Amino acid sequence: MPTPMPIVKVKLPSVLSQYENGRVPESQLDTVESTRTALVWKMAILPARGMRALHAEAKKHGIILSSTGRGRTYTQQEQLFRTRYTTTYLPGRPYKIWNGVRWYQKPGVAMAAVPGTSNHGWWCADDLAEVVGGVTMGLRASTVEWLFNNAGRFGFAWETTSENWHVHWIAGDTVPQAVLAYEDSLNPPPPPPNPIPPTEDDEMPILVRFQKYANVFTFSPGGGYQLLTASTYPAYASLQKVLIQGAPDSSAAADVKASWNAAIKAALNQNGLTQADLLSGGSYEVF
Ligand SMILES: [Zn+2]
Repeated sequence: MPTPMPIVKVKLPSVLSQYENGRVPESQLDTVESTRTALVWKMAILPARGMRALHAEAKKHGIILSSTGRGRTYTQQEQLFRTRYTTTYLPGRPYKIWNGVRWYQKPGVAMAAVPGTSNHGWWCADDLAEVVGGVTMGLRASTVEWLFNNAGRFGFAWETTSENWHVHWIAGDTVPQAVLAYEDSLNPPPPPPNPIPPTEDDEMPILVRFQKYANVFTFSPGGGYQLLTASTYPAYASLQKVLIQGAPDSSAAADVKASWNAAIKAALNQNGLTQADLLSGGSYEVF
């Protein structure tokens, strides 16, 4: 059984209530992709955070999300509405009232909101697409299914069953937990406040990754340690290999491990962390 489309009423961030639909200032907007800075690709600040996190989560599942449009000025919405609706009487066609006049939806086109009422005019809606094999296309059925099951955690739901690509923001002023978790994963931990000076000659450092951070630290047997950044990490590539190829069962390796352990313990204490902060169930992980 396919998952039913989660239809939930839009809930706008309250900061937008001081503006008019289609006339939200750029200071209230943010990019979803840093490379797409035109108004049409932006979203209001909170939905943009949600959409960035949703994109990252989708990517983990092999889905490259994209969009065919997000924000719309009043003028753009009016132009769109006028291309899809006509005041000419079309028997049996759905119609909408705009300024007291009936506008009939032309055959073969998607619906459009009456100018001034679209959630695109709040920069709180996104017409989703995806990239497959380098080509941007409409959502595949499997992606729609994935989105039905996951978009809600990131603050999005659907508006109408006739548009499975159109999602809008339902979290109001709340930042959903899944969005916070994603943003946490991007933030490096604070730098160690009090680096421990090495107490003996530098020896081969160990690479350690903490459970709650994506970052990798080096620890010297003497007690010194530092945060590895993306730019310094490659410098340790050869070290990484040495450690992997070492003989962990030899007594020499055990000795070295014991001294590493002491250095790590001292460093943990110094930073108010515990062994539980380390990977591999409370132990450290040797790369
Ligand atoms: Zn839409």
